[in-house]
Amino acid sequence: MKLTNEKVVVCGGGGFIGGHLVKALLDNGVNVVRAVDVKPLDEWYQKTKDVENLSLDLRDKANCYKATDGIQVVFQLAADMGGMGFIENNKALCMLSVLTNTHMLMAAKDSGVERFFYSSSACVYNGDKQKTPDVVALKEEDAYPALPEDGYGWEKLFSERMCRHFEEDFGLLTRVARYHNVYGPLGTYDGGREKAPAAMCRKVIQAKASGKHEIEIWGDGHQTRSFMYIDDCTKGTQAILESDIDEPINLGSSELVTINQLVDIVEEIAGIKLKRTYKLDAPKGVNGRNSDNTKILDHLGWEPSIRLKDGMAKTYEWIESQMLAPVTK
Ligand code: NAD
Repeated sequence: MKLTNEKVVVCGGGGFIGGHLVKALLDNGVNVVRAVDVKPLDEWYQKTKDVENLSLDLRDKANCYKATDGIQVVFQLAADMGGMGFIENNKALCMLSVLTNTHMLMAAKDSGVERFFYSSSACVYNGDKQKTPDVVALKEEDAYPALPEDGYGWEKLFSERMCRHFEEDFGLLTRVARYHNVYGPLGTYDGGREKAPAAMCRKVIQAKASGKHEIEIWGDGHQTRSFMYIDDCTKGTQAILESDIDEPINLGSSELVTINQLVDIVEEIAGIKLKRTYKLDAPKGVNGRNSDNTKILDHLGWEPSIRLKDGMAKTYEWIESQMLAPVTK
């Protein structure tokens, strides 16, 4: 199907990906009528006029009915989450997102929603397959036997299965994407919930501004990851929602880098070289992870392809503009 006149809600619309998704869908002519987030409106990264922006806690079932009222398509991105520093230290909070996902599915079913998108994560994958930096890219079936990231990953895997059973038992059509590390402008870069790409930009900008040419890296810097630029994420999200893919599918870049190589890229953008120190006891997640894109290529003839150095240049520029902006009262 192609989204045409269906009324759409984006949950988590005040967040990083949700904010971009509202904009991208509207740019594509999609009828986004509502965005919902627990944060007060003045804390949303992006707010789009002509859309009803609601500040509601979606753990509360009654609020999920307000979110889905008159809606045909739900993008459910709301979750209590952050980078490794947050999810390793807040497992209970991460798992409480199960309330949001459960109540959103129930409300969607009762409100006659036709399609429901759920943003899962690469953190659902079995940890045993991610022990070394020279990884074999993760295929969708590598989520089982289940040994996901403790807390956050278990909740994501459970909610994936709930989507599946709501489709099988109640006929609510669900689509699930497993996002792999998404980055870009207009997201979190400090405060403890930021992820590696934004954190590296912040640290390099701080080092440059302060003249203290040092950077602390979490782990030994050899851990590998792939990072997907936000524009690929919003494009893939819409395509997966519109597709007939009825199993969870990877949505990630397959450009694998070490964390040291990520720092190289940021240093090059900033035109600076920093002395590196390694904090070996910091939260660093699995040793290696990459996205196997065979399935998405088969289904969509497309995969995320924005180069890391291009996406990081835009991300760096935005974070720098925020950090160096004069404080206004
Ligand atoms: P984000 O934190 O910027 O956005 C999530 C939004 O959900 C936040 O604005 C938050 O306020 C909102 N939220 C949290 N609890 C809520 C509640 N009870 N009711 C209503 N809103 C609530 O994070 P993001 O990076 O934009 O992530 C969006 C989705 O994508 C999440 O489900 C996340 O788990 C998933 N994901 C993200 C990444 C990534 O790299 N960013 C990777 C894998 C999966």
